Amino acid sequence: ALERYASIRDKAACSRDGVTVGMHMNAGLMADLPSLAGSGAEGVGLFRTELQFLVRTKMPRRGELSALYARVLDAAQGKRVVFRTLDIGSDKVLPYMTAQDEPNPAMGWRAIRVGLDKPGIMRMQLQALLRAAAGRPLAVMFPFVAQREEYDAACAEMNKALERERILGHALPEVLEVGAMLETPSLAFAPDKFFRDVGFLSIGGNDLKQFFFAADRENERVRKRYDTLNVSFLSLIEQIVERCAATDTPLSFCGEDAGRPVEALCLAAIGLRCLSMRPASIGPVKNAIMRTDLAELRAVIHAARERGDQSVRPAVVEYLRDNG
Ligand code: PEP
Ligand code: MG
Repeated sequence: ALERYASIRDKAACSRDGVTVGMHMNAGLMADLPSLAGSGAEGVGLFRTELQFLVRTKMPRRGELSALYARVLDAAQGKRVVFRTLDIGSDKVLPYMTAQDEPNPAMGWRAIRVGLDKPGIMRMQLQALLRAAAGRPLAVMFPFVAQREEYDAACAEMNKALERERILGHALPEVLEVGAMLETPSLAFAPDKFFRDVGFLSIGGNDLKQFFFAADRENERVRKRYDTLNVSFLSLIEQIVERCAATDTPLSFCGEDAGRPVEALCLAAIGLRCLSMRPASIGPVKNAIMRTDLAELRAVIHAARERGDQSVRPAVVEYLRDNG
């Protein structure tokens, strides 16, 4: 698949009407890094750090982690890597942590909630990231932020970690970007002040969609009822895009839908300018963007919404069939 798109690998994903969309990849293990060059991705938009914890039998030590993160940054050769702090919960149980018995693990004690309630692991991880990125740029994002206070508390941990590095005389990252994943509907409605203060946002469409429709992403039976191209969901995404534009907040989208050509086109048409996806999707999505007039597609989406369609998919598919 990578070879098929080799001719456009080093080209920008620029649409027919001249809009450039940033193409980034999702990763989680060292083994994913060679795809960065192979796919033509501009960087790693989502590095799921929990994968490296999940494949171990015991809690990694800080030195080990920081060596690992340094190798990730080495392999990225200066391309931006956004490290997402641990997104573990009672469904992604670390072998060395006691499982919680929760009736709704997806809505339970997970991700940043664990990080803030038991800050030991988060502190170690932040320290390891800072150490690994000494003298070079670092981007960190916190998963599953549902309200501002959680982001602020996580930033306070980051500031403490920075202070500790400074006191110990270690070099700091050359630049540090801190942001949050927007994957609960609540955060989409946070005050403007939050949008202005957060370093950047990345929409976690997998979780955002499951909570928006109240449909478990792991449950085929209910998941399939709700289309990502449902007009209500697209309106939510469009509102997030508009709020970020109004507050100058860098925004990306890193859920699985970013890697599906029709969905990716719709996201770009409603204003997303940065997508992060499985490496194998970069070629097909870039190819689709290069063949499409995004302003026209946007008009098709808005017309479908005006008509009262439940999903814009039929109209979009018809348009792409005639104009692709
Ligand atoms: C998401 O929720 O869309 C996301 C990117 O995070 P994960 O799939 O790891 O929950
Ligand atoms: Mg998520």
